[in-house]
Amino acid sequence: MTNKLRYFVANWKMYGHLRSLNSLNKVINFRKKNKKAKNLKIIYCPPFTLLHAFVQKFKNSNIKTGAQNCSFLSSFGPPTGSINASMIKSLKCDYVILGHSEKRAKGENDKIINKKISSALKNNLKVIFCIGETILQKRKKMTKKILLNQLNKGLHKIKKKENILIAYEPVWSIGTGLVPKCEDLNRVISFIKIFLRNKMKFKNPKVLYGGSVSPQNISLLRKVLNLDGFLVGGSSQNSKKFIDIIKKTFI
Ligand code: PEP
Repeated sequence: MTNKLRYFVANWKMYGHLRSLNSLNKVINFRKKNKKAKNLKIIYCPPFTLLHAFVQKFKNSNIKTGAQNCSFLSSFGPPTGSINASMIKSLKCDYVILGHSEKRAKGENDKIINKKISSALKNNLKVIFCIGETILQKRKKMTKKILLNQLNKGLHKIKKKENILIAYEPVWSIGTGLVPKCEDLNRVISFIKIFLRNKMKFKNPKVLYGGSVSPQNISLLRKVLNLDGFLVGGSSQNSKKFIDIIKKTFI
């Protein structure tokens, strides 16, 4: 395995109670045993209800915590049920996932995502910005066009680029068990990185892959060497599977 920095982001989606925290002991112990693996970055993104408990649980463990979304508003205000970036930061969280396709499917557009990214960065959160095409767009060979559009609009006038991770998550691979072919993935990741470097002035773009990553397919996916890590949904909810994914990639 290379010495490259590897991010493993666990997106717990709408999963977990307080009692689910016990399952994290395995991951904490795994992280402790691999203390020297400085280039291994583990980030957990549980639902809002568990953020505080996760931050407490991961104290002294070198595992970071992130939210799964935030409001585009930076200040306090009336939108019932919303949580803004400063509230997330105040819990000592470091990251937030934005632009997830499950949110886009519910009407979140590029303009709102752009405002959310701006607000998150202003509040010193690091952003995991999700982009990806649908199966129909893939079939119509529109993948590059869609990704460019999402990147251009989502990152419009955004600074602090060093605090942004891009997560390429083809919509057709999320929760379906389907993953892109390695050569296709390699091509898309290169395309994203070249665009970020040349057009968006990223110095050192980091791009993760997300979509049905599992202990079964990770041995193949890890061969895509231009990737900087993985965003793992379903499989991250089981600590043993998540550790397995990390081990098979990294160690
Ligand atoms: C996700 O929702 O970000 C994701 C990657 O999900 P899954 O791994 O379950 O496909």
